[in-house]
Amino acid sequence: MADKQKIAILTSGGDAPGMNAAVRAVVRTALYFDMEVYGVQEGYLGLKEDNIHRLTAGDVGDIIHRGGTMLGTARLPEFASDPMVRRQCYENLRAHGIDGLVVCGGDGSYRGANLVYKESGIKVVGLPGTIDNDLAYTDFTIGFDTAVNTCVDNINKLRDTMASHGRVSVVDVMGRGCGDIAVHSGIAAGAEAILIPEIKKTDNQWLDYLVSKLRTAFARGKKYGIIVMAEGVYATPKMHHFTADYIASWLNANSETIGHRVDARGCVIGHVQRGGSPTATDRILAARMGEEAVSLLREDKGGLCVGIVKNRIIAVEIEKALSMKRRVDKHLIELADILAR
Ligand code: ADP
Repeated sequence: MADKQKIAILTSGGDAPGMNAAVRAVVRTALYFDMEVYGVQEGYLGLKEDNIHRLTAGDVGDIIHRGGTMLGTARLPEFASDPMVRRQCYENLRAHGIDGLVVCGGDGSYRGANLVYKESGIKVVGLPGTIDNDLAYTDFTIGFDTAVNTCVDNINKLRDTMASHGRVSVVDVMGRGCGDIAVHSGIAAGAEAILIPEIKKTDNQWLDYLVSKLRTAFARGKKYGIIVMAEGVYATPKMHHFTADYIASWLNANSETIGHRVDARGCVIGHVQRGGSPTATDRILAARMGEEAVSLLREDKGGLCVGIVKNRIIAVEIEKALSMKRRVDKHLIELADILAR
């Protein structure tokens, strides 16, 4: 009888809601196909320290609804810089007889996954686990939908108090290079304006834009306002001052240009965006992608990452995926603008 195929899964980089659902999907699909499956604790650190354990169907019970990752995650810069560290990782995997690895994480984790594949020959498949939705090859990443819903929940609450007091909220959401969380949560929350890093404006240009949006809103009788900004807008050195609090203070000090009294506040939603029970959309995405990762490994394929395009599950070479440039959805931005008039 042929030896069972042995595969492992790790979660790496920033955690994202739905990583657990992905781990569960990989483990249960692998067991269904009579493979042996191992969990690596804390990403590449667990590979280095041989923190690798066999998983059963029961081990991944009661996790589908939980945020975070039962496998833990870590950052290990030496994995990128030190070939000896990587060699140790490969030896540890081989010592368990593992020849397939699923890496669930963001672009940094994918760079690591690609090195594993190229250097060791171990078949590696990536799953996009990141709230930022910043991987160009896939329409959606696991965790994005939950993060957007968390933002919308928070903005809904802010909206209640903003409406009661006639205030303006400048809401800072995550997304350093990619404004998708801001665009999606801004549209879903009915924001007056959305600021994202993909649109290159100076601080003064953004302020002019906000003045015109708020003027329009107040002129048609609106009593309060919601502005959503991605943190990436102030990520570059020249823009470091341009935070939600700064914008709110500026609006307060420049009410006369808006033609209405403004009482603005900054609000940083922060790390709560990473947590929470994954939405059904993220759980289903994780299930579909996890199944595909195992199917690829069964076919002895590696160096690939799983994505979703037009609601179809796809696989792309990791190298190609990393070289693709994310394009902002211009239509969604226009739509946000039209709906806020
Ligand atoms: P994310 O996967 O969320 O983008 P990071 O960028 O922090 O998170 O990457 C997670 C881990 O992936 C890093 O701690 C490191 O171990 C590994 N990694 C990141 N970049 C590289 C790289 N260029 N080469 C090899 N490994 C990398």
